[in-house]
Amino acid sequence: MPELPEVESIKLQLEKYVVGSKIQNIDVRNKKYEIETKKIIGQKIIGVRRFAKQLSIDLDNNYSIMIHVKMTGQLIYKGSRLKENSLSKKVIGGINGKHTHLIFHLDDGDLYYNDVRQFGWIKVVDSPQSTANGYAPEPLKDLTLEYFEKLLSKSKRNIKVLLMDQAKIGGVGNIYANDALWLAGISPRSTANSLQPDKAKKLYNAIETVLKTGLKYGGASELAFVTPDGNEGEYQNHTLVYGREGKVCKSCKKNKIEKFFLGGRGTYWCKICQK
Ligand SMILES: [Zn+2]
Repeated sequence: MPELPEVESIKLQLEKYVVGSKIQNIDVRNKKYEIETKKIIGQKIIGVRRFAKQLSIDLDNNYSIMIHVKMTGQLIYKGSRLKENSLSKKVIGGINGKHTHLIFHLDDGDLYYNDVRQFGWIKVVDSPQSTANGYAPEPLKDLTLEYFEKLLSKSKRNIKVLLMDQAKIGGVGNIYANDALWLAGISPRSTANSLQPDKAKKLYNAIETVLKTGLKYGGASELAFVTPDGNEGEYQNHTLVYGREGKVCKSCKKNKIEKFFLGGRGTYWCKICQK
C-alpha cells in the first residue's frame, strides 16, 4: 500500500499538472465511484493537499475532492501540461480502459482514476471538513521528538507494529518501517517502551531519513503505484532491508537478511545489526 512518500509524490505531480485547471465534465464509468458532480463541474482547481495518505484536491467554490488510493488506485494525467506520456505496465488496461472508473475532463487535459481492486475511494466534501478529521502527527511535518518519545514510553507493543499504526503516526507503512528500524539498529520485535532515549532519537531520525530517500526516488512501486505522469517510483531498487531476504546485510556485510511475519506483515531484519 502506498505510504507517505508515494502519496506525497502523487500530490507533487498533481500540483504540477492540474492546479489552475477547470473541471469541465466528469465521466463516472463505475457506479461505485459516483460522486456529487454538480458541486465540482465548472470549478477551478486551486490546490492539492495531503493528510496522511489522503489527498484533497481543492476547488475555488470551497469544495474538495478527497481521494484515498488504498491498494491499487492510480491517478493519471494526460494533457497539454505533460509532453510525453509513457505509461507503466502497472497501469493495467491503460487509461480509458476497463479499470478506469472516473475521468475528470479538464480544460487542458484529463485526469483518470484507475483502480483494479477498487478499495480506493473518492468523495466530495466541504474544504474545511477535509482538515477536521484529527489526523495523527506525521514525520517531516508535525511529529515531534517529544511526542514520539512519549508514544514509545507508553506502549508495550512491538516497535514495528506501533510505527505502522496510522492512528498514532501518519504515513509510515511496512516498507519504510522495516528500513527505518534497520537504519537505527533496532530489532522490529523490541517492545516500544524498552527503547532508551538515545535509541528512540536514532529511530526518529531514521524515519525521516528513509522517508526523504523514498521521496527522492518518487516512492516505491510495489503493487500498483504510479505517479500521475504514468511512471513508477524507484525506491524499491534502493531499500535498505525491505525485500532483501537471503541477501547479505548492507551494514555488517556478512549476515544474511531474514524474513518473518510480525502483526501479519513481512518483516526483514539482520540479527547482528538490529538488537
Ligand atoms: Zn547486518
